[in-house]
Amino acid sequence: MAERAAPFYCPYCGDEDLRMFGETHGQWRCGACQRVFGLRYLGLASDWTTAVVPSPESPASSAAPAATEKGLKP
Ligand SMILES: [Zn+2]
Repeated sequence: MAERAAPFYCPYCGDEDLRMFGETHGQWRCGACQRVFGLRYLGLASDWTTAVVPSPESPASSAAPAATEKGLKP
């Protein structure tokens, strides 16, 4: 998927007349209620109640450098 999916409904009034607005990617304008809103990627959350962990747009491999922590030396 080269392009991000577009929102289908206005989060404020539920109308479907949404069009990209302005020059900044992720900003949309609702033709029904005239509201302009933005969609932005925040990060990853492993659960519904955990805090968001900022991460790159493309989640990298989860290989953690745990072996280099102190106390793990043989
Ligand atoms: Zn609207």
